[in-house]
Amino acid sequence: MRPSDGPGGGRPLVVLFPLPYQGHINPMLRLAAALHARGLAITVVHTETRAPDRQKLPADFDLVTIRDGVAPELAESDDVAPFVLALNRSCAAPFRDYLAGARDVACVVADVDWFAPLGVARELGVKALPLMTSSAAKFRVYMAFPVLEEKGYLPIRESNLDTTVKELPPLLVRDLHHEKDETRYRAYAHLLSNMVSGVRQSSGLILNTLDAIEEVDIANIYKDISIPVFAIGPLHILSPSVDSSLLLQDRSCLQWLDAQPPGSVIYVSLGSLMSIDAHELTEIAWGLVASRRPFLWVIRPGLVRGCEASELPIELQEEIVRDRGRMVSWAPQQEVLKHPAVGAFLTHCGWNSTLESILEGVPMICRPLGGDQLCNARYVCEVWKVGFRVVEVENQLTRGDVQVAIEKMMGQKEGDEIRERMRDLRNAAAKCTSKGGPTDVSLQRLVGFIVSP
Ligand code: UDP
Repeated sequence: MRPSDGPGGGRPLVVLFPLPYQGHINPMLRLAAALHARGLAITVVHTETRAPDRQKLPADFDLVTIRDGVAPELAESDDVAPFVLALNRSCAAPFRDYLAGARDVACVVADVDWFAPLGVARELGVKALPLMTSSAAKFRVYMAFPVLEEKGYLPIRESNLDTTVKELPPLLVRDLHHEKDETRYRAYAHLLSNMVSGVRQSSGLILNTLDAIEEVDIANIYKDISIPVFAIGPLHILSPSVDSSLLLQDRSCLQWLDAQPPGSVIYVSLGSLMSIDAHELTEIAWGLVASRRPFLWVIRPGLVRGCEASELPIELQEEIVRDRGRMVSWAPQQEVLKHPAVGAFLTHCGWNSTLESILEGVPMICRPLGGDQLCNARYVCEVWKVGFRVVEVENQLTRGDVQVAIEKMMGQKEGDEIRERMRDLRNAAAKCTSKGGPTDVSLQRLVGFIVSP
C-alpha cells in the first residue's frame, strides 16, 4: 500500500482495538462512530475471537484482523483474567507488525485491558489512549488494588464481606472481587497491575461515564493520575447508531412491545457473559409467572449452565403462548429500553446496561452476578437510588424474591419514588450530554488532543 492509499486518505487515523467481549466491543465501536462523525478516519483492529461483523459496520471503517491463537475454551470461560493475559501475550507481536506499517496514525485507542498493545504504541511513538469501558468507580478499585491488599480488605474473607471500604465509599468489601481460588486471584491481580501501570504511562485516559452520575469518582481519578482524562460517556448516545452486536438481535420483540400497555413490561436480561444455573432460571421463570405482568426475557445461548430454554417450566411456556411473556435469544436492547411499554429492567448491572437504562429512565431490579456488576449495583441502589437488589449477592434467588421485587417496583409507593429519582437522574444525564455540556466539551477536547501534533 502506498502512503497516499492509507485508509484515512490523509485524514488523521485513529486505530481502535476493542477487547473481544460484547460489553467492551459496544462502547469501543460507539467511540469509533463518534470520532468518525467528527472527521477522523477509523481502523478497527480486532482479534479472530469474537470478530465484529464487517457487513454491519460503516463501509469506510477499515478492519484489521489479528490472529490471536487463544484456545476457544479459554475465550468461553467466565474466568476472564487468564484469557486476557493470554491475548496480551499472543497479540502484541502481530499488533506491532501492523502498527509499524500503518500510515497517518494519530493515535491508538485500546481497551484498558490491552496493556501490551498500548505498550507497543508507546514504543513506536504513537499516542496511546486506553478506554475504560466500565465505571469510574471500578477504575478507582483497580487503581487502589495494592492499597486494598495492604490494608487487608483483599483477598476477601467471609468475616469482612460487610466491611465498608473507607477509601472507596460506598463500596463494601463484598463489592470488590469475589475470587476465592488463589491461582485465579493471582492472575486477576497480575492483570490489574499491568493494566494500571500501562494506563499511567499512556498519553491520556478515556472514561465511558459522565459527571451527572460519577462526578466524585471522575474528580478523584483526575487527582490520582497525571495524564489527561476524558469523561465522554455514555458512548451509546454520542454516536450515530452502529450495530456492533455479535449475536443476531430478534427485532420481532419490538412489535410485541407495541401491543403492551405503557410502563407495564419487565425487561429481563443478564448480559452477554455471565451464566446462571438451571435452578436460578427456574426460580426467575416462576417469579415472572407469579407477578402476572408482561415480561420480555433474553435467554442467550450459554446463559444457563447445562440447560436450554426448552426445559423451562410448562406454566411459563403457557404464559408465553398466552402472550404475557416473550422470550428471545438476543434483543435490540437499546430500542427495548427506549420503548414506552417497558416499566422496569431486571438486570445483571453490566456497565453498558446500567448506562443504557439510566439514559432511558428505566428503573432497575438488580441481580449482579460478579465482576464490575457488584460495584455498579451498589451505585444503582445506594448512590442514585434508582433500583434495588432482588436479593443479596451470595443468596440463592427464589421465585418469591422475584415476585416481591416486581411488585415493589411496579407498585405505587416505593415504585413511584424510584421512578421519580430515575426521571431526575435521566434529565441530569441528558443535560450533561447536550451541546456544551461536560460530556460534549470533553469529547471536543479529546478530538483536539488526538489531532494535535
Ligand atoms: N445487549 C443486547 N441485547 C441483549 C442483551 C444485551 O444488545 O439481548 C447489549 C447491551 O445493550 C449492552 C451489552 O449487550 O450494550 C452488554 O453489556 P453490559 O456491559 O451491560 O454487560 P456484559 O457484556 O458485561 O454482560
